[in-house]
Amino acid sequence: MIIIPVYNQVILPDSNIFLPLDRMRSASSSSPSANEKVMFLFQKRQEQRFTEDSFYPIGVVGFVAQTAIQNMVVVHTVQRVNVENVTVRADHSLSVNVFRRPDIEDIGANEEKAHLEDAKQSLRRILASYPWGNQVIPLLNQVSSLSEIICMVSLWINITPEEKYLLAAEDSRKARTEKIEKVLFEYLELAKVTSEAQSAQNEEYKNAYRESAIRKQMEYLQKELDEMHPENVSDLRRLELKVQECHMNADARKEADKVLSRLKQDGKNSPEYGMLYDYLDFITNLQWEHSEPQRIDLEEAEQVLEEDHFGLEQVKKRIIQQIAVMNLKKTQSGSILLFVGAPGTGKTSIGQSIARATHRKYVRVSLGGSRDEADIRGHRRTYIGAMPGRIMDGIAKSGVSNPVMVLDEVDKLSVSLNGDPSSALLEVLDPEQNSTFTDHYMNVPYDLSDVLFICTANTTDTIPQPLLDRMEVIRFNGYTIAEKFEIAKRHLLPKAMEKTGISREHLEVSDEAIRTAISDYTMEGGVRGLKKVMETLCRSAAVEIAKNPDVCVKVDEHTLRDYLEGRPIHHERISEPGRAGIVTGLAWTPVGGEILFIETMFTKGNGKITVTGQLGDVMKESAQIAISIVRSLYPEKAELFEKNDLHIHVPSGAVKKDGPSAGITLVTAIASLVTQKPVRPTLAMTGEISLRSLVMPIGGLPEKLMAAERAGVKTVLIPYENEEDLRDVPEEIKGKLEIIPVRDVAQVLKIAGIE
Ligand code: ADP
Repeated sequence: MIIIPVYNQVILPDSNIFLPLDRMRSASSSSPSANEKVMFLFQKRQEQRFTEDSFYPIGVVGFVAQTAIQNMVVVHTVQRVNVENVTVRADHSLSVNVFRRPDIEDIGANEEKAHLEDAKQSLRRILASYPWGNQVIPLLNQVSSLSEIICMVSLWINITPEEKYLLAAEDSRKARTEKIEKVLFEYLELAKVTSEAQSAQNEEYKNAYRESAIRKQMEYLQKELDEMHPENVSDLRRLELKVQECHMNADARKEADKVLSRLKQDGKNSPEYGMLYDYLDFITNLQWEHSEPQRIDLEEAEQVLEEDHFGLEQVKKRIIQQIAVMNLKKTQSGSILLFVGAPGTGKTSIGQSIARATHRKYVRVSLGGSRDEADIRGHRRTYIGAMPGRIMDGIAKSGVSNPVMVLDEVDKLSVSLNGDPSSALLEVLDPEQNSTFTDHYMNVPYDLSDVLFICTANTTDTIPQPLLDRMEVIRFNGYTIAEKFEIAKRHLLPKAMEKTGISREHLEVSDEAIRTAISDYTMEGGVRGLKKVMETLCRSAAVEIAKNPDVCVKVDEHTLRDYLEGRPIHHERISEPGRAGIVTGLAWTPVGGEILFIETMFTKGNGKITVTGQLGDVMKESAQIAISIVRSLYPEKAELFEKNDLHIHVPSGAVKKDGPSAGITLVTAIASLVTQKPVRPTLAMTGEISLRSLVMPIGGLPEKLMAAERAGVKTVLIPYENEEDLRDVPEEIKGKLEIIPVRDVAQVLKIAGIE
């Protein structure tokens, strides 16, 4: 038996195969003789040296029908066989065992004949358009099967070597006939296109096959072109390569393949082309592969945090703990931290430092003002102008699957008709769910479990409880004046100088000038305003330096004003002597603490109570309680309340919810008014009050105490139960204030000098 390996050729049973005599000779030691058995083996790859694995498991056997007509041998194929035990002998010749592989006879002879006649007719028409065609047409008349036709044109049809083998591997005769017909039609159409021959035959198939044929040809040519000029690879081809190479998960791959084939099918003129293209571009640019958790050097991380930010000891400690846990658990994420504090306290920028300390990419996603679920989760692709949500957009921007992602302003999400962004965010932050987070735009899951999420907020009051429960709150209490001084000197001024291109020898800012800038030009818990002040200063200095490059600009507290815009801020500072009915209170606002003066006054009337200022209903309730307490304390003054109207004014500023924390301030103010005993203005107080005259705890103590110290308060009364919170108050502030925890109204009034 002569074994003939074939590659990229269709061999089917029941066909006459023309083979060059040379090829037969190279496969056999002697010249082929008539009726000698021939075995065709399909090669998997194009190779000269064979191994046991070089061949597909199905082959075709036949016999030599004619020897040497014009140096060709005709082999007539008979039967498909299973090939087993392929052995390559030492002289490289092959031996195999073969077993008959029967066809599934599921097509009638007439049907087969009809298909054959169709194909012959088409072929004749094409051949007729070639000058040499007439010589070949008679050959066609001898052809007795569809298989034979395809074997004849085998070398020219544009399907892959594997697809050619698969024709022979098909057991069902019907399926095989259909496949052959399809390939043949494509071939014929291609031939038609190339020779520009027009045919109206088979309208039904015509267009589809014609298009597919052109496309295949284009693809083929494109591939060749790509190989010749890798730099000019077409967009679509580039996308196709990216889809293959970007290691996306199975769902995503399926979707990408679907979209890719739509793109190819519809072509550039389709209205959806742009949208589909953008989609593929987006998902192929994502990083789909997981990166292994890296061990993070704790000492180095500590150093990075120290370098970037002054102070914030508690915060840094907590971050280092988190990194240590990540190291031990060998994970890339951990508990979700929520940084809460006034603007400019370094929440966002410390997120950046964490990324630097852990050698990871940093992305910031701003959620402020987000009212739509689609902001988080994206729009469905059917929506015009659909876009991915901000989370996936952030991931795409980072170019990695494990960035440090800072979600800014999670307290500023609001619910609208378009859904609730906070519930979508819940899913993002839930370790149970976020490994299969599905953005509507992408429509396939993406694993967010390696992302280290950090959220920031000014207050926890407006964050929905379920979301808050997912996160671990870390408070940024704002900076003392001394801390601000260090921050300005070590970080803000040098950065501002760098930004404006000023070198050290050109600008000297005295310490006193920095202190004045802090006290007279800023009023804030953080350092955002201070940063701007430093930048303004540098810009002004830059003008002088640009005019005279040899100058060294010296700024001290007296000349500071010349370099800054606007006038110094007027601070609510305590200067006046006390007046009966006016008491200093402390309030908390999302941008830091503030002091406020509660003013009360009697006017002639009949017992009406007026509360003005912004605090609204909550304050009215507190005022009612305060009045009841004062009336019960001073029954002899009842007439005062009956014959007068009481006016209470609380300046705006504090947030509505903060109303109750002015409870004891209100009581003291009214008691002072009633007794006409002034309270010293350097005494400030904060505390909610109960009807039984007990002082109840309040929030935001560190910010309030800082504001008190800033404003020149000397003594502060705080609720007894808040004493623990003093832990979070900087020593420097505690050193400057006399802080007295109080339990009830009697104690408050005593300290205030009203009894
Ligand atoms: P937030 O996010 O809390 O509003 P940012 O992180 O945007 O505040 O900080 C505002 C600016 O102040 C940044 O330029 C930051 O580098 C700087 N900054 C804040 N806190 C510190 C600090 N402790 N040390 C050095 N710079 C700081």
